[in-house]
Amino acid sequence: MNAALTRLRAEFRRATDERDFRNWSFQETCDQARIAVLVIPALVLGGLLSDFAGLGVERTLLLALPVRLAFLALGVVQFTRLRGMTKVESVDRAVTLLQVVLFLLFYYFISLEYLSLTEHLLVALFIVLAAYLVFPNRFVTMVRLGIAGSLGYAVVVSVFLAPDMRLVTLVVEGLVVANVFGAITAHRLHISKRGEYRRFIAQRDLTERLKTLNVELEALATTDSLTGINNRRNFFNLAADEIARAKRYQRPLTALMIDIDRFKNVNDKHGHAVGDMVLKAIAQACITTLRETDVLGRLGGEEFAILLPETEDGREQADRLRRTIERMRTALDDGTDLNVTVSIGVAATRPEDATIDDVLGRADEALYQAKQRGRNCVATA
Ligand code: GH3
Ligand code: MG
Ligand code: MG
Repeated sequence: MNAALTRLRAEFRRATDERDFRNWSFQETCDQARIAVLVIPALVLGGLLSDFAGLGVERTLLLALPVRLAFLALGVVQFTRLRGMTKVESVDRAVTLLQVVLFLLFYYFISLEYLSLTEHLLVALFIVLAAYLVFPNRFVTMVRLGIAGSLGYAVVVSVFLAPDMRLVTLVVEGLVVANVFGAITAHRLHISKRGEYRRFIAQRDLTERLKTLNVELEALATTDSLTGINNRRNFFNLAADEIARAKRYQRPLTALMIDIDRFKNVNDKHGHAVGDMVLKAIAQACITTLRETDVLGRLGGEEFAILLPETEDGREQADRLRRTIERMRTALDDGTDLNVTVSIGVAATRPEDATIDDVLGRADEALYQAKQRGRNCVATA
């Protein structure tokens, strides 16, 4: 029942949706209202010309003139007031006031008795249709105005034409048709505007979701999911920038290659999950020893690499990191704790290095030497 009612009112079922829609369409509603409150009085003033054409300068015509001008003045006042309005209800009221005055004006013109019934009927239909189509009001308000105005007119006319039932029927028929067509058209416009809003919201939500997904995708593409540090791909991208900068400005740059010692044993003895814990702990240890400009990455398996810009000899940093890891303990479920060591190869860039692979290659050779020397040590290329 409620749903049918909101559908009939051409509104959103959820009150919050309706409110958001009104906020969204507010500026447009306001702009249309401003046009309407000027156009309607202008047309009413224009009616003076057709009256003049029919009647010439006549007493009633002169009586109607100040009223038409006053109505135009009211339109101008509402036009100015609408500029500062921030609530759709205020726009409603401003527009309704003008429409109500238009109806009253019309009854006043009828009382002057200078127009034929056909002319009155035409004007009445124009006012009813204006209530539905020109005023960008809310549907319910439009229907209320249209019906109330029509009833008022029907009563006034019936009083004049009581004996002539054929004419009364014609007037009533004309008003019913104007109300039905006006209401159907206004209803369609309301529904279609809300459809436009719904599509706008769907598009906006989709764009938001895409943005979030892009951020997630970017993170997935650049970070290692286990340790959260740069993955191999991103490390090499950043490294290419670093070596380019070092070469261009002839600044020192040193690379460290870090490999966990006998890591296969850790996995074999304690399981893969413990192995993963150790990998994370070592990544953390690397992070804590880094400066802001250093670049860290997991190259794969249990191998990490660090680039130290503005560093000619990275041995000291490498050994500090090695000692930190040597002192680290990973607590195990059985109450004991585990300690691992790393071997580190250090290589500084040379003028003849063309790409980052050259310096990383030498750091890898140095790492191999460190392993040969018995592990848990630092070797330099
Ligand atoms: P070395 O001292 O010579 O480096 O010995 P190692 O055992 O560390 O060297 P090896 O290359 O033989 O073994 C590396 C092991 O790292 C093999 C693999 O099980 C383990 N590993 C690689 N990636 C992961 C991972 O993501 N998680 C876990 N838990 N283990 C991994
Ligand atoms: Mg290895
Ligand atoms: Mg290893």
